[in-house]
Amino acid sequence: MAKISIDLKSGKVKKQSNVVIGIDLGTTNSLVAYMKEGEPLAVKGSDGKNTLVPSIIHFNEKDRVIVGKSAKERLVSHPERTIYSVKRLMGKSFNDVENFKSHLGYEIINEDEEKLVKIKVGHRFYTPIELSSEILKELKDRIEQELDAIVTKAVITVPAYFNDTQRQATRDAGKLAGLDVLRIVNEPTAASLAYGVGLDEDKDETVAVYDLGGGTFDVSILEIRGGIFEVLSTHGDTFLGGDDFDRAIVDHWQNRIGEKDGDKSFQQELRLLAETAKKSLSNQKEFKGTIGNTSFSLNTAKFNGLIQPIIQRTIDACQKALNDAGCKITDIDKVILVGGSTRTPLVKEMVSSFFGQTAFDKLNPDEVVALGAAVQADVLAGNQKDVLLLDVTPLSLGIETMGGLMDVIIPRNSKIPAKAGRNYTTSVDGQKNLKVSVFQGERDLVKDNRKLGEFILSGIPPMPAGIPKIAIHFIIDADGILKVKALEERSGVETSVEIRSQYGVSEEEMALMLLESLKNAESDMKARALLEAKIEAKNVLLSADKFMKNNKSILSPEEMQQTQLLTLQLKVAVEGTDKDLINDALHQLNTYTHPLAHRAMDHNIANAMKGKKL
Ligand code: ADP
Ligand code: MG
Repeated sequence: MAKISIDLKSGKVKKQSNVVIGIDLGTTNSLVAYMKEGEPLAVKGSDGKNTLVPSIIHFNEKDRVIVGKSAKERLVSHPERTIYSVKRLMGKSFNDVENFKSHLGYEIINEDEEKLVKIKVGHRFYTPIELSSEILKELKDRIEQELDAIVTKAVITVPAYFNDTQRQATRDAGKLAGLDVLRIVNEPTAASLAYGVGLDEDKDETVAVYDLGGGTFDVSILEIRGGIFEVLSTHGDTFLGGDDFDRAIVDHWQNRIGEKDGDKSFQQELRLLAETAKKSLSNQKEFKGTIGNTSFSLNTAKFNGLIQPIIQRTIDACQKALNDAGCKITDIDKVILVGGSTRTPLVKEMVSSFFGQTAFDKLNPDEVVALGAAVQADVLAGNQKDVLLLDVTPLSLGIETMGGLMDVIIPRNSKIPAKAGRNYTTSVDGQKNLKVSVFQGERDLVKDNRKLGEFILSGIPPMPAGIPKIAIHFIIDADGILKVKALEERSGVETSVEIRSQYGVSEEEMALMLLESLKNAESDMKARALLEAKIEAKNVLLSADKFMKNNKSILSPEEMQQTQLLTLQLKVAVEGTDKDLINDALHQLNTYTHPLAHRAMDHNIANAMKGKKL
C-alpha cells in the first residue's frame, strides 16, 4: 500500500517516496544524492546546473530564510545576516569556538560558557542545529522536486573525527528538517562506498581517504574487513583548505600591484577572482582577468609555487595518519581523493607521489561523499540484500552508581559489536552482595533513564570497603544483544545477564528521550554536581571522624577544636542544597587538616618503627 501525504505548502496531495537519500552536509558545500536505477546520482537544482548547494544561510529583514547560491551572493552585502561555516559550530560550546569566532562575519552569543553556542541574527537567536536544518530542508526540497514525492528517510555524513555531541547535533538537525536520520556515516567511509569498496564482503582492504575541502582538511586510514569499516586513524587540520589557495593568490597579486589594503569590496572581488583563477588553472595553464582597469594573471608554474608549501602540510598529516594506524605506505591498497580542492592538479600529483600510486579521482571529488551516502542509504532501504549492515547503539548504556547517578559504559552511537568495561568497588565494610542495575539513556540520573534489567553479584568474600575489585563488562554482539558481566577479581566470583531489549525503544520514544535530555541538560548537571558534592562530603566527614578518634594524642586542643568546628560546618552544609556551600566547607576542612594528617602519619610511622629490629 502506497502512502499518501498532503504537501502543506501547496495543498497538493503528494506521493510518499520510500527512497532513502544520502546527504553530504559540508562546511562549504552540501548536496543530496539518491540511487537511480542502480547508480548513485547527485541531484541538480531547478536551474539544472549545480549539484552543490553552498552551505550558506541568509536571513532577510523579515527573517525569511534563503539558502545556497543566492545566500552566498549576500555574503558581501549583508555579512551580519549571512551565516557560513555552521558545521564548525555543531556541538560546540562558546569556550570551544572562542579562538576562531573572530574569523566569522556574524555574531556568536556567550550566554553561558558551558552551553552550546548560539548565533545572533537581528533580534533572533539560532542554534547551529537549527541553521543546519535549514540547509537540510533546502536539500529535502530539492530531492522532492526531482522525485515529485515526499522524502523522509536519510543518511547524513560527518567527518570521522566528529565526537558524539557533534554527531548527535547532526542527527537532531535532520530531525528538525523533517528527516528520519537512519544513520550517521563517516565521510571517508561514504567516499569508499562510492568507489565500491566494502561492497564485496570477501575482499579485505586498507584505504587512505584524502579530503581537502574549502576550509578543512582530513586524511583517514580505513580498514575494511568482511564489509565492516574501521577508522584506524585520522589526522588533519580544521583550518586548512582551498580557501588558503585563494588567499595565497590574493597575497601574490597584492604584492605585485603594491596595494596591501584597498577597500572592503575590492578585497572581496579580488578574493573571488582568485578563486576563479584557481579553478580555471585546474584545466588550463594560464589565467587572465580584470577588476576595473587593473588586470591580473597567473600561470600554473607560479600557482604551484604558491601552494606547494600548503599541500606539503597535508602530506605531513598523511605520514602521521599512517604512523598512527601502524601502516606502511605499501599496506595502502587504494587512495581516494575527496573535496573540491583535490581538483587542483598539484594536489593529486603530490598525494599520488607520496602514496606511490595513482589516487582515485574518477568520481567528482566534491560529489563522492554524497554518492557514497546514497549507496549506504540504498543498503539501509534493503535494496542490497547481500551487504552487511553494521549498526550503532541508539542510546548510551550504563549502570547505576552511588546516589542514583548514571555511569555510561558504552556511549550512544558506538559501533556494534562493542565491548567496554570499568572497575568498581564496595562502599561498606564486609559487603557481600553488589546490585548491578543496567540503564539506557542520556540523562545524568538513572531515574530519568530506562531500566533494562538488574542482577546481584553475590558471594563477595568479606573485605573492608574499597578493597574488592569488581570489573563490570558490557558486551554487545552483532545482533545487538547486550551481555553484562560482573567479576570480583580477587575472589573470582562472577555473574552475568543477557539483555535483549535494548532496541525495544521506538524512534519516537528515542526522540522523546533525547529531547528530554536536551531540555533538562542544565538541571541534570546541577543535580549531578550537588549529589557528587554530597557524596564526597560524606566520605570526608567519615574519615575526619576516624582521624580525630585515632589521633587525640597528636593534635593540640586548638587543632582538635578547629577540626571539629570545620566538620560541623560541613555537616550543616551537606543537609542543604547549595553545592557551592558544600564544596567551600569541604575545601576549608581539607586545607586545614591536610598538614595535620601529614604530621599524624609521620608520627604513626615513627611509632610503628620503634622496637622493631631491622
Ligand atoms: P567542503 O567539503 O568543505 O564543504 P568542498 O569539497 O565542496 O568543500 O570544496 C570546496 C573547495 O573546493 C573550495 O575551496 C573551492 O574553491 C574548491 N574547488 C572547487 N572546484 C575547484 C576546481 N575546479 N579546482 C580547484 N579547486 C576547486
Ligand atoms: Mg566535504
